Amino acid sequence: MSEENAPLHFIEHIIEEDLSNGFDQNKIRFRFPPEPNGYLHVGHLKAIALNFNLGQRYNAPVNLRFDDTNPVKENQVFVDAIKENIQWLGYQWDKECYASDYFEQLYQWAIYLIKEGKAYIDPQDSSTIAEQKGTPTQTGTNSPFRDRPIEENLRLFEEMKAGKHPEGSHVLRAKIDMDSPNMLMRDPVMYRILFKHHHRTSDAWCIYPMYDWTHGESDYIEQVSHSLCTLEFKPHRELYEWFLDQLPSYNDLRPYQREFARLNLSYTVTSKRKLAQLVDEQFVNGWDDPRMPTISGMRRRGYPPQALINFVTTAGISKRENVIDVYLLEYCVREELNKTSARVMAVVNPVKLVITNYPEDKTEKLSAVNNPEDESQGTRTLPFSKELYIEREDFKEEANRKFFRLTLGKEVRLKNAYIVKGESVIKDNDGNITEIHCTYDPESKSGSGSEASMRKVKGTIHWVSVAHAIDATVRNYDRLFNDESPDQHKEKSFLDFVNPDSFSIQNAKIEPSLASLAIGERVQFQRLGYYTLDKDATSSNLVFNKIVGLRDTWAKKQ
Ligand code: ATP
Ligand code: MG
Repeated sequence: MSEENAPLHFIEHIIEEDLSNGFDQNKIRFRFPPEPNGYLHVGHLKAIALNFNLGQRYNAPVNLRFDDTNPVKENQVFVDAIKENIQWLGYQWDKECYASDYFEQLYQWAIYLIKEGKAYIDPQDSSTIAEQKGTPTQTGTNSPFRDRPIEENLRLFEEMKAGKHPEGSHVLRAKIDMDSPNMLMRDPVMYRILFKHHHRTSDAWCIYPMYDWTHGESDYIEQVSHSLCTLEFKPHRELYEWFLDQLPSYNDLRPYQREFARLNLSYTVTSKRKLAQLVDEQFVNGWDDPRMPTISGMRRRGYPPQALINFVTTAGISKRENVIDVYLLEYCVREELNKTSARVMAVVNPVKLVITNYPEDKTEKLSAVNNPEDESQGTRTLPFSKELYIEREDFKEEANRKFFRLTLGKEVRLKNAYIVKGESVIKDNDGNITEIHCTYDPESKSGSGSEASMRKVKGTIHWVSVAHAIDATVRNYDRLFNDESPDQHKEKSFLDFVNPDSFSIQNAKIEPSLASLAIGERVQFQRLGYYTLDKDATSSNLVFNKIVGLRDTWAKKQ
C-alpha cells in the first residue's frame, strides 16, 4: 500500500478537521525535537517519519529542533550523529533550530512572568520543594517564598543570571496552583542554576530553562502548528497551554500539542539510557553495533532506509501503547532487499567438491542473472572450474528421501551450472570429510537449451570456484535479547536477558565479482540471506554483516 493510498491515521484526521474548520494550510508546520544526549533509536524513527511524512503530505516545513537545555548530558557529537541519521533516512528539514538560540527570549519572557506576578524565586532545596508538592491524592503546600515581592524576585533572578548564586541555591518557579489535581501544575520549576559549559552557548549562561518552559515557547517562536509528542507528555499539555497563555502577545499562530503512542518493539529496548548502558558495559561494540536498535546500528547492519520507513508506516500511528513484533521490522527489511539486492554466491561453511571428469585446467565463464525480481539489474559472469566449494551442510553421505541436496549416488544441480552426481569422499584421520568427489553431466549446462539442461533433479545448491574464490569474514547476528520484553521484568534487569549467542563469525569463500563491492552495499548470498559490506572491510579482508535471513528462522528455533 503506498503512503498516499493508506487510510488516514488519527493525527491526519485532526489536521484534516483543522483544515475543514478554516485553518490555513500554509500555516502548517511541524518539528522533530531530539535532545542531543544520545543516539537516535528505532523509537525516534517513528517520530521522525511521522513528522516528515506529514510535512510531505501537507507540503509543510518540518524543523529539526535540538532540545538542548541540559548542558550536563548534551554534546556536539550527538548533534552531528542525529543530523546524519535523518539525512540518511532521506528526509530534509526546513530550519535547523536550537532551543539554546532562544535562551535570551525565554529569559525576557521569564522576567515578564515575574513582573506579572506569575513566577517567583524559591531558595528551598529540591527535596523540600518535592515534599511540599504533595501527592496525586494530597494537595500541596505553598512555598513560604511564594508571595515574595516582585522587585525582590526580579533582583534575585538577575543575580542568578549574573552568576552571583551557587548551583542549587535558588530556582525560578511558575506560580500556578499547589492544589491542582495535575502535579505538573503545582508551581513547576522554570529555571535552575547550572555552572556548566554548554556545547553551543559556551559559558554565556549559568541558568538553564526546564523542558516544559522551553518546549511550547520554542514551538511558538518557530510557529509550529502541530507539536507532536509521545503519550507520556499528555499530562504536560495543561502546562504547555498555561505557559503559552502567559506570553505577552497572541498575534501569531498558537501551537497545539498532540500525543501519540511510543513505538515499543519486542525483543528490544528503546530507551537512550538503557542503550547507553549496553554500550558502557560493553555488551555491544559501540552505538553503531549492528545488533543495536539505533539508527546508526541498523544502518550498519544493512537495513535499507526505505525498509525502516515502511516499517514504521506499516506499524501505524496509534493513540494507545502497544508492542510491535520485531518480526514486522525484519519482514520489511526482507521485502525491500528482495526487490533491490543482487543475488550472488558465497559459501560460509566450505567443503571442497572435486569434479573428477572435468578437465584439469579449464575455466568456463557462466552467465548468471543478478536479480530475478528486477531484470534491469542484468547478468554477470561466474568462473567455473574442476574444484569448487560447497556448503558442508549441502552434502550427506547417506540421506533420507527428504534431503534434496548432494548425496552419494544422487544428482543435484549446481546453480547456474551443471548437474553433478556424488561419487565418493575423502576423510581425515578424525573422520571429517575433506573432499567430496563427483562427476558432472557435460550436456546439462544451465541455459544451454539442451535436453539435459532441462532435466529435473531433486535440488539446486550454490558453489564458488576454489581457484577464483575470495576469502571473506562473515559476522552473524542474532537478537540481542532472548526475551520478548527484556525491560518489563520486576525482579530482573534487562541486562539479564542479553542473548550470549547474538554474535558469531564465519570464514567464507565468495564469488570474485564481490571484490568490487562498496562499503554499505547489500547483496543476497543465495540460499543464505542478505549481507552487506561492513565499514571494517579492507581490500585484503572483506568483512560482511549478515542483515537478515531469507525467511524467519527464529520461530523454528524456539
Ligand atoms: P528516550 O526515552 O530514549 O530517552 P527521549 O524521548 O528522551 O528518548 P528525545 O530526544 O527527547 O528522546 O525524543 C525526541 C522525540 O522523539 C520526542 O518527540 C519523543 O517523543 C520521540 N520519541 C522518543 N522515543 C520514542 C518512541 N519510542 N516512540 C516514538 N517516539 C519517540
Ligand atoms: Mg527526553
